[in-house]
Amino acid sequence: MMDQKRLHEIEARCTQESPPRCREACPFDLDVRTFMARMAEGKPGEARKLMERHLPLPGIMARICDAPCENVCLRRDLGGSVAMHGLELACMLAVGPQGRPLPLPPKRFSIAVMGAGLAGLAAAWDLSRKAYPVTVFYAGTPSQAVLETYPQLGSHGDAACPKDFLAEDMELLARQKVQFVEAALDQSLLDKVAAEYAGVLVDAGVVPSLVPVLADLDEEILHWRDNICCAGWCNQTPTGHAFASSSRQAGQGRRAAQTLERVTSGVSLTAARNKEQGALHTDVKGIAPVPRVEPAEAVYAADEAVAEAARCLQCQCMICVRECVYLQKYKGYPRVYARQVHNNASIVKGLHTANALINGCALCGQCEELCPENFSMAELCLSAREDMVENGYMPPSAHEFALEDMENASGAECVLVLPDTSLPSGASPSWLFFPGCQLAASRGEQVARVYALLRERMAASADPGVALMLSCCGIPARWAGRANLFAEHMEKLRQAWIDLGKPRIMAACSSCLTALREALPEAEALSLWEVLDQMGLPDGPLVSLAPSVDEVDKSGNGQPVTGQGTAINLPEVFSIQDPCTARHDSAWLAAVRSLSRRAGARIEEPRLSGASTACCGYGGLVWCAQPELADEMAAHRSAELPHAGLASCIMCRDRMAASGKECWHLLDLLFPDCAHAGTGAEKGPGLSARRANRAALRRRLLREWLGQDAPEPGKGRVLMSQEMLTRLEERHILLGDIESAVVGAEASGHRFENLENGHILGSWRPRQVTFWVEYQPQGENFILHDAWCHRMVVPGSGGHEAVDVINSHQCCTDGQRGGQGGVQS
Ligand code: SF4
Ligand code: SF4
Ligand code: SF4
Repeated sequence: MMDQKRLHEIEARCTQESPPRCREACPFDLDVRTFMARMAEGKPGEARKLMERHLPLPGIMARICDAPCENVCLRRDLGGSVAMHGLELACMLAVGPQGRPLPLPPKRFSIAVMGAGLAGLAAAWDLSRKAYPVTVFYAGTPSQAVLETYPQLGSHGDAACPKDFLAEDMELLARQKVQFVEAALDQSLLDKVAAEYAGVLVDAGVVPSLVPVLADLDEEILHWRDNICCAGWCNQTPTGHAFASSSRQAGQGRRAAQTLERVTSGVSLTAARNKEQGALHTDVKGIAPVPRVEPAEAVYAADEAVAEAARCLQCQCMICVRECVYLQKYKGYPRVYARQVHNNASIVKGLHTANALINGCALCGQCEELCPENFSMAELCLSAREDMVENGYMPPSAHEFALEDMENASGAECVLVLPDTSLPSGASPSWLFFPGCQLAASRGEQVARVYALLRERMAASADPGVALMLSCCGIPARWAGRANLFAEHMEKLRQAWIDLGKPRIMAACSSCLTALREALPEAEALSLWEVLDQMGLPDGPLVSLAPSVDEVDKSGNGQPVTGQGTAINLPEVFSIQDPCTARHDSAWLAAVRSLSRRAGARIEEPRLSGASTACCGYGGLVWCAQPELADEMAAHRSAELPHAGLASCIMCRDRMAASGKECWHLLDLLFPDCAHAGTGAEKGPGLSARRANRAALRRRLLREWLGQDAPEPGKGRVLMSQEMLTRLEERHILLGDIESAVVGAEASGHRFENLENGHILGSWRPRQVTFWVEYQPQGENFILHDAWCHRMVVPGSGGHEAVDVINSHQCCTDGQRGGQGGVQS
């Protein structure tokens, strides 16, 4: 389970809430991005409100700020930095003040400011707005020091600046009750005010001889000694020339004012001051340069200001969100989601609102791959799932169906460990072929053909013997957060592998490979594709080299059977679809490309491929917990492939084909005689057919390789339309469950009859799931009119007493109850 510390570490990785570079560079934390958005909308009043909220002396700063934000603007190399300073001035000139500060009760600590330079005035501004009584001691006139440093403040009334912002801001300072007192700014005054006032700020730009050098202070805190802070130093060039930077001086004034607040209230001067945040990442790839809009006159006109502000890129990250349908669905970004997951884990009783968020992630790892900080939603969501399972908060509707499917694929009907009987007695096979339960469910014929090829080829190799194992690899348990179930399952596989003599494993499914490598690290596990690629097979389809078992048996000498494969018209170009669980398996990725080319396919890489590939919606059991989201994922990925897809994972192939995308499996290219012209467009088998296919493959292999006959399944008695079958699939109801529910209702008599239409309503609750069936007897058989199920733990019925939210896909409303359609046998 993930501890709070780790959760916070993960959350902190996402930089989406970090300020953009411009705001980061602004000493006053001005929200430049929003300012630009308001200006681009032609709302200078809204923009000025932001300036007034953030800037000390907003008029003065609009006139003289040297705009360090422009030096770092991401537009700089894309047409020139956005003209922040010019737009601030245009904004302040376009509209008048946008409100007054809220009146606050006066603070009891008085502050003295020695020197009315820019730093001193900025500090006086900030402190007086927080109701500190502030007295500014000046020499000459109140404006003299600032005018001497920034003479342009005096040249108002011309085209460059029609307004006297200095006078306006001095007037506002007076309104904020700042006292101006003329005095000799010397040591005796400093000693006096230090004794009489709660805090003192010395303006280093005005009285440099009274203050230490900046290097002697912490530049962020600017605390000198006791109750005294300093601010307003000039910058020094390497040659020793001093010059004043308006943003730096005023920024120091603000920081010193913040320190004085802490000095007077006895709070730590440093605590929580420098919030460590990663720099905001912004991807500017593909953004076209747009030249800076230069004002026709000295100041931007309204339309020019709108156009220039519109050049702002509104910098943000969202790199991962842009690519992931799931991350988009919840309208936030990983940092927000991390908080929601954290809050969800803290709820003891009540509605766990982030359950859908936690169970919607495909655990595919694309976000981690794309994120410059490697933020992993998969790690977060998987850990949260484990947490929910452990605490009994995981609703059965989320993953139970998938876990039952795993049980079936690893149960007596489907599981098979086939030894290599061609080996001398007592010899262990060098290899174990692990096709995976979904390939077995969808491409049984090809699994049989691959195995025959491997048997034939390996017989003559230096590492003879290849066994076969039909089973689920256990990854559904891992994805469901059932760590114990996963461990138990893997222990069974480990035992079977040990019994076989610890052969090298070759898997045809990248999820299987991931699970096996994680839970069986002592085994050498690689992909079927690497083995086939390195086998020294000639280029071209393998069909001519893959004898059927009968042919091998007949020849008896293990020689390949030659002949031409069935020619099918394959697409001219394929877009490679890499499975997400193979994104870091470079050997898998390379072997798939090599085999595809050798089989004669022209392949192209889509925009996101290899390590950055996207999930088809099978990963993480999204298909089970949130089928609609999984379908969106498949459709999204399909749309990203410009050509027909070529997948090395059968679930990628089947899910993309189900979304309407032509998609082929690598085995279709290697064994084209198992395919036909429409194979790429053909949907994969449904949920019930998958189970039947796995069992059929087991029977076939037993018969072909061991000469054993396993019993064939009985014929069902429930008949239904194709439309009804589709509906059952959507609701994750299997034909076997329907049979049991109908037969069970008939046998037990737990059924109601609708006397108006003769339909019978029966129910069956074999596990945490209840099936409802509406049917009608017809001779020996039954016609199914509708069926529903819901999965929930009923309080008091045993197990965790967590009431489930019924998944809409698994329990339809009355409105969904459809007609019966035509009857099929
Ligand atoms: S890529 Fe995603 S997780 Fe990473 S910083 Fe950007 S928004 Fe946050
Ligand atoms: S483009 Fe806009 S948000 Fe990005 S750095 Fe420049 S001004 Fe700031
Ligand atoms: S679905 Fe994949 S890319 Fe999206 S959040 Fe989950 S792991 Fe990341």
